[in-house]
Amino acid sequence: MAKKTKVETRISSEVDLEKNGKQQGVLRLPHSVHRSAYGWIGIPVVCIKNGEGPTVLVMSGNHGDEYEGQVTVIKLIRELKPKDVRGRLILLPMANYPAAKAGMRTSPIDQGNMNRTFPGDPHGTPTKAIAHYIECVLLAMCDYVIDLHSGGSSLMILVSSLFKKSHDDKRTARSIELMRVFGAPVGFIDLKDSSGTMSAAALRQGPIHLSTELGGGGTVTVEALRIAEEGTRRVLKHVGALRPNYPVKPGVETRVVTVGGPDYYVHAFDQGLCEPLVELGDEVKKGQPAALIHFPEAPAREPVTARFGRAGLVLCKRMGGRVEIGDCLFHLATDYKV
Ligand SMILES: [Zn+2]
Repeated sequence: MAKKTKVETRISSEVDLEKNGKQQGVLRLPHSVHRSAYGWIGIPVVCIKNGEGPTVLVMSGNHGDEYEGQVTVIKLIRELKPKDVRGRLILLPMANYPAAKAGMRTSPIDQGNMNRTFPGDPHGTPTKAIAHYIECVLLAMCDYVIDLHSGGSSLMILVSSLFKKSHDDKRTARSIELMRVFGAPVGFIDLKDSSGTMSAAALRQGPIHLSTELGGGGTVTVEALRIAEEGTRRVLKHVGALRPNYPVKPGVETRVVTVGGPDYYVHAFDQGLCEPLVELGDEVKKGQPAALIHFPEAPAREPVTARFGRAGLVLCKRMGGRVEIGDCLFHLATDYKV
């Protein structure tokens, strides 16, 4: 039977999060529409619980067109048995289910971008109601949250881990520790102010947060998946959520970088066809040309040059040749002194 929680929410869980063992079910969000008057949206959830230990939420599909994390969480669900776990793992492979089902960043039902929606609203649109449940019910019971992202359809990002810096130095140090354990080639610390993201939700609710950017481009690469799978297992073991002798492989040393303000970003100020002039992983100088914007409707017109506003490592590039005014073409990162 679906289980009601104490927090005000329209969502009920088929899975009893207090019960030992491995359970699979859905979080039911009532959704009354023309073709299904008494229907609900079912967000897949798995709980694996075994006695004492930390509670960790591992989720993907916060953005539905980021597939590396979804594959990672699905494989983790199939692999792990209760005897492998210490404490409780809550696994959400398709966190914003309508978006993940559609393979879209945002929900086709309400156009909601879940990672801009926290803390959500229990009486709001499906995206808001799901975000509220994740923050106010699930995060509230967690010690750690691993939220697996990538660049999605429109961006490609160097395979990396990330977290948002807080004013709490101990918390920041713990996140850097997890970043190093995750063992991606790059780990970046987000300095931007944001209230609607999972990282902001974790700051409000308490659990230590680690996220990722696992490539993107609307695809899955062998390398990104390997790093995601191995890194997630290493972090789960490191925080004591897996048995001490659970087999994990070593990661690589992580280059810790930061992504700062607007000068880290290159945006398009014209619409047209984008010709990138640098690649991911390149080191660039201030003023260096980043891309040419061509005008296929006026092919004799000289292209416009977009330039980098500062020096740095090319961490992210836009996928897709057509660009509109305001599209992000690149963003940079710079080394962070730990
Ligand atoms: Zn994302």
